[in-house]
Amino acid sequence: MALTAVSADSTTHQGHDPSLDTPAYTVQQRDTLSTIARDHGVTLKAMRDANPQVLNPDVIYPGQALRLPEGAVSPTTAFVDPAGPTPTLERRDRGPVVTQLQEGLHNAGFNPGAVDGIFGARTEQAVRAFQASRDLDVDGIVGRDTWSALGRSGDQPVAPVTGDVVATGDAVTDRRIQGLHPEVRAVASQFVQRVEQELGIQLRVTDGFRSFAEQDALYAQGRNGNPGPIVTNARGGQSYHNYGVAFDVAELRPDGNVSWDTDWEAIGRIGESMGLEWGGRWTGLVDRPHFQMDHGFSTGQLRERVNSDNLRADGFVNLD
Ligand SMILES: [Zn+2]
Repeated sequence: MALTAVSADSTTHQGHDPSLDTPAYTVQQRDTLSTIARDHGVTLKAMRDANPQVLNPDVIYPGQALRLPEGAVSPTTAFVDPAGPTPTLERRDRGPVVTQLQEGLHNAGFNPGAVDGIFGARTEQAVRAFQASRDLDVDGIVGRDTWSALGRSGDQPVAPVTGDVVATGDAVTDRRIQGLHPEVRAVASQFVQRVEQELGIQLRVTDGFRSFAEQDALYAQGRNGNPGPIVTNARGGQSYHNYGVAFDVAELRPDGNVSWDTDWEAIGRIGESMGLEWGGRWTGLVDRPHFQMDHGFSTGQLRERVNSDNLRADGFVNLD
């Protein structure tokens, strides 16, 4: 049942309002009895019981005064719990999780206006523009897919990976995983395994550990008259690959060819659910084949550790 406020000049006007001795609420454009109830932390039935003058609950109109039932809270405190699992947000919601949404929109390059925790017109416009840019349903409502595209997949809590390195079914991939930092090998291998099990996509790790010298050579490509396209802005030590904590993947097709035309969104979500950072979420230089586990260190901090010989016995940088 759609309970949408109709305009004040509607012929379905319910007559004059009773004098209101309890907390009152003035109906706004786009309000419904349901949203008013939700915003004030009460049930729809309580709203109806408190307003017997509303004969048809489908019909309320902007400017109409309503009684708020006992137990109603001010909308500023009726916010959505940010710890909840991907709450669906829409116009008029408010609270910390709306602030998170607005920050996410900002980070994605969309302007929701002030980051104030209030889902107003500007925020809705930004949500719609963001949804259009990601080929999502453009409905202005932030559900699971929109949250996920914004980089928050609350329905997939991160489960720290335990256990050992597993065989991935691709010898090249297994070898490259063995070249990664020991603290990343298990998650990388289990990630490849899960993508195969859940999506039926066999991944190949196309790039893993890269030495500083290899990185410098890659940086030179396409620069100073060197052949090939520019593929990186990072010099030796400036890429997480140089510390063995990043790897790139592509789809390994049954015919043995490698393809970058694959279901990146689903692959990225699986990686994120395992605690990996996915380059597909980056703004600016989006790098969908790239996954990393930086253990909270910047590349500068890792380089500092290498330069000061803060290394493990096996020569990899110390991540403790
Ligand atoms: Zn990479």
